[in-house]
Amino acid sequence: MSYRVGFGIDFHQLTEGRDLWLGGMKIPFHKGSLGHSDADVLLHAICDALLGAACLGDIGLHFPNDSVEFQDIDSKILVQRTIELVKKENYVVVNIDTTVCLEAPKIKAHVEQMRKIIASILGISVNDISIKATTTEKMGFIGRGEGIAAYATVLLKKA
Ligand SMILES: [Zn+2]
Repeated sequence: MSYRVGFGIDFHQLTEGRDLWLGGMKIPFHKGSLGHSDADVLLHAICDALLGAACLGDIGLHFPNDSVEFQDIDSKILVQRTIELVKKENYVVVNIDTTVCLEAPKIKAHVEQMRKIIASILGISVNDISIKATTTEKMGFIGRGEGIAAYATVLLKKA
């Protein structure tokens, strides 16, 4: 049996006048992520972890941020396309563990819904997708509320 681990990380600026998309859903907040797509930092980290585990490059290679095709795109579509690439290589997802790093807002109330959304796109159980959150104790750009980061680890198994 062949297993492959993958790691993904992503950052976005938080700015006024943008919606905060996280884990495939819109979170009520006075700032949102700045980016070419909907700038969903968690879904982007998951895409990169999936691609990394299958040794398929990174998100920028498959979904370039200078392409009009991906402008303001719903990142759930990027996850969908990514899992199709991974399945083409005959891998299935065993589990995913993630951490979102942000000072505000608190996302605890939304985590269950995010897990359901991601599990449904990937065709896995909600028990196989973990979403954790942390602050940076007010330190650095995340602590100042200027940005948001997400980390994801994925385990794939050869089908
Ligand atoms: Zn991103």
